[in-house]
This record gives sequence, structure tokens and C-alpha cells, in this order.
Amino acid sequence: QSQEVSQEHIDYHVALQALQEHGTRMVCTGKMHTDRICRFDYLCYCSEAEEFVFFHSNSSVMLPNLGSRRFQPALLDLSSVEDHNTQYFNFLELPAAALKFMPKPVFVPDVTLILNRFNPDNLMHVFHDDLLPAFYTMKQYSDLDDEARLVFMEGWGEGPHFDLYRLLSSKQPLLKEQLRNFGKLMCFTKSYVGLSKMTTWYQYGFVQPQGPKANILVSGNEIRQFARALMVKMNITRVEEAEKDGGSAEDEKEKDDYIVVFTRSTTRLIINEAELIMALAQEFQMKVVTVSLEEQSFNSIVQVISGASMLVSMHGAQLITSLFLPRGATVVELFPFAVNPEQYTPYKTLASLPGMDLHYISWRNTKEENTITHPDRTWEQGGIAHLEKEEQERILASKDVPRHLCCRNPEWLFRIYQDTLVDIPSFLEILKEGMKTKPSFKKSKLASTVHPGRVREPQCQTSVQTTNEAKLTVSWQIPWNLKYLKVREVKYEVWIQEQGENTYMPYILPQQNYTFSENIKPFTTYLVWVRCIFNKNLLGPFADVLISIS
Ligand code: UDP
Repeated sequence: QSQEVSQEHIDYHVALQALQEHGTRMVCTGKMHTDRICRFDYLCYCSEAEEFVFFHSNSSVMLPNLGSRRFQPALLDLSSVEDHNTQYFNFLELPAAALKFMPKPVFVPDVTLILNRFNPDNLMHVFHDDLLPAFYTMKQYSDLDDEARLVFMEGWGEGPHFDLYRLLSSKQPLLKEQLRNFGKLMCFTKSYVGLSKMTTWYQYGFVQPQGPKANILVSGNEIRQFARALMVKMNITRVEEAEKDGGSAEDEKEKDDYIVVFTRSTTRLIINEAELIMALAQEFQMKVVTVSLEEQSFNSIVQVISGASMLVSMHGAQLITSLFLPRGATVVELFPFAVNPEQYTPYKTLASLPGMDLHYISWRNTKEENTITHPDRTWEQGGIAHLEKEEQERILASKDVPRHLCCRNPEWLFRIYQDTLVDIPSFLEILKEGMKTKPSFKKSKLASTVHPGRVREPQCQTSVQTTNEAKLTVSWQIPWNLKYLKVREVKYEVWIQEQGENTYMPYILPQQNYTFSENIKPFTTYLVWVRCIFNKNLLGPFADVLISIS
């Protein structure tokens, strides 16, 4: 991986002339700063001012041209975390003529993706906020290929997981502090600024208590494609997915099935880990292996997890590795005393994404005598000694952390950094109960995500029988795509609304025509909608509304 940006491949004078004549050009997608990604020709960065610079000339373009609204509050979010005021992007403006008085620019020939990492020290944040969004932003713009250059502008050092960021392209990512090495003024020939938020599923509680995002747009399929691509880059060969598929794992216990316990070695410990491992091995008659970020390389952890039947761990960032579990595996998340699993669900939400095909079980320590608190630690590690006596006493007496915002709530930090002696009988009980509701995650998942098309040639006719009796006949043809599919169950839904009424009568039918006589009045206009449904829950679109006049 080459770190230096070579000036050999570009004709310097051509580039400089282009910049002077054409200035910067920007075209963006997105209506709001929160969903915007911008593409630039000749976006420059002044390392002295630590500002991006847009050079105006007669042929420069700035779309959207927001005027001062560009600062209300920003042009776009540089990280995938929505509308966070430390993550905003903007640029300064200068006339291209000013270049004559400025240091000679250094041109970056690579197509560049400019972004902020949100919290590169934390594995969950690395995946959820940076790697997945960057991966799919690169998929969105085809010139962000394996040769693309990533530039991280949040200002942090490499961090402990920099090797993971290196997997995104063949070129070494650049950090903000390294941009100085390229001189006072550097200009990105072609760049994209910002990250797609399409793949994120969790909000960390900056404006409301943390929880799943309101409108999740990613499915297990995209997460798994990403995981597979990363594993190829890591040179990890995985047991064929088919062999490890849920069905077989359940029916016949395979010899090579195993459970992974992901341990933390410094904080939020499981005190009786050995006992827990023994209990798991005995209960499931499976081998149990442990991994930890402190003891293994990340690659070897992924290798192990990608073949596991079950992943057991304390709540914490290491659980993001469940995205490497095979389909049909189970995630078991443990929570310390006074922490409600329902309120901290980044890993539950991940496991429950449609098509992720993971089974999720949580256990929480309900026995106060089994918790080990650390009141004397620093506040970041959950210490409370710095608080007023009364507040300390209130926290110690509380058995449930109340809902709270991110990120410095002392009661939350105090409780989440407790160590736990896992009560084995209660743990096994929860686990056994939880396994009873594990679905079979059958194969042939692919076909079952295809939605029906519109029903074709819908028709309806009313016939008046007597002055107070009428019939409404509705018929239609199957959706066009059905003839190419094997669908377990095909049904049709018909809505009948009397014109002017607010309500409608819904019917579910197996056949392609039906004559309604109940509740049908003569000399009344009805509006009729028809749609197809595959396998109970895959709804198709309604056909154009039918109007029946008698
Ligand atoms: N971490 C670890 N072992 C430990 C404690 C933390 O590997 O004993 C890792 C953890 O997985 C995360 C980072 O260190 O990537 C920060 O941990 P922290 O407890 O701050 O965050 P959390 O796990 O609660 O998200």
C-alpha cells in the first residue's frame, strides 16, 4: 500500500490550469445536510487553515447553491451519525484568481472519499458508523473502486482497528494530520464527501434515549454481503454456508459445532467464566472456545466466529462481530445488574434484521449480590466517587438505570461497567427457554423475498338484483412475475369502499374472481382495490382503483 500521493501520473500544468480556469465543481445528492453526499472536481484543502476551499471561476458549479443556508447548520454530515454538530462539513470560498498568491497546490490524482470516522477506538462504532457506510458509499459511486483513496478528517490517530479500514481499498487511508505532509494547499482531482446512512440501524441517544433507528433501510442481505467481502479481503475461508445452515445445525448435531464465548479482559468481566463455559459445554454437548480482542488477532476471531453455532458475550462493542456468524446461529448477550436489555439493543437489532437469520437471546443479572461495582474508578469507567454523597447513594440504591441520553450519564456508566458473577441456573434456564423459540431459518430464503407484481386486467361489474339487492363481481389475472416463481401460498386482497365513506371492507381470497353480495347496495358507487400477497406477508402493490357504478 502506497502512502505517498505521487505527482507523476498527472500532468501538473494541465491540472493547475484546469483549476485556475474552471475552479471547483460540486454536484450533490440529498435534500438536507443529513442525507447529502457531494462529488467535487478540484476540491482543495488548506492545511494551514484546516479548511476545505472551493475556488470560484466562470465555470465553477455549486449544486445545491444554498447561499448562506450552507451554514444552517452545514452542507453535510461528514460521518454517518446523523446531524451531530461535531461532524459537520463545509468549505471556505475563494476566487480562483487568488491561486496566484497562494502556495503551489499539490494535486491528489486518486478518486478520494472524504469522511469522518465517528469513534475509531470502539469496534461497534468502527463497523456500524464507518466500515459499512463507507463500503456502501463506495458501491454507490463506481469510480470509488479498489483504487480509491480514503481520507479521515475527524482528526484522530490510526486507532486500534486501522487494519480494518485498510481493507476498504488497496490504498493506504490518509489521516487529517498527514495532509500537512502534502504542503499547504492540496487539491483533490475527484472526490466524494460524506457517507451513506443507508446501512445504519442504531442511534446512540443524542436527542432521545438510544435505540433502533426509526426507519431502518438495511437488511441482513447487505450486512452479509459486506461481511463476506471483508472476509475475502482478510483471506478467511469459511465453511460453506450451506453446511452450517440452521436446518442441519438443529436437526442433527454436527461434530464440529461449537460455541464461542467472547470475553472482555479489562472491564465488564464475567467473574466465573470457567464455570459458564463448563455449563454451556454440558448443556449443548458442544465444544466451547473463548476469544478476546486482547488475545487474538481480529482475523482469527472472525475465522472462529464465522463457523460458530452460538456467540455468548457481555454487552459490549465486541458483539458487533456477530455479523460474521453463519445464518442460523444464536447470539446470547449478557447484561450487568440494573441494566435493562430492552433499552440497549444495537446487537439485538442487528441480529433481528430481516434476512440476518440470527436468533437473539438476552440474559440479565438480577441478583445484586452477584455484581461487583467499581465506584472508585474514573467517571469514564463508571466511577461515582466524584458525585455528591446523596447522588451516590441514590445510584447505589437504584435497581434499574432510568432512561437517559448519551453519553456521560454516571448511573449508566456505573452500572454498565460492573463485573458479573453469572448465576448459572438462571442463565441456563433463560437459554433453554430462548432456544425453544428459535426458528429453523430454512434455506430457499432467496425466493421468499420476491414481492408480487400488480394483478393484471382487474375488472369489476355491479349488477342490480332487486331494489335492495345487488352483486359486485371482481376479477383479475395473476401478477406477471408469478409465472416464473414457485410460491408456497398465493392470495389476493380486495378492498371495497363505498364512495364517500371513510372505511373499506377488506377480503382475503385464494382465487382470481369473486362475486360479493353481502353489504352490496344497488345504485351505489364502489371503489375496489386488488393486490396479490405471497406467503402471508409479502404484499404486492394495488392495481389501479376500479370504479363500479350501478
Ligand atoms: N474492550 C475489550 N476488552 C475489554 C474492554 C473493552 O476488548 O475488556 C474493547 C471493546 O470491545 C471496544 C473498546 O474496547 O471495542 C471500548 O470498550 P468500551 O467498554 O468503552 O465500549 P463498549 O464495549 O461498551 O461499546
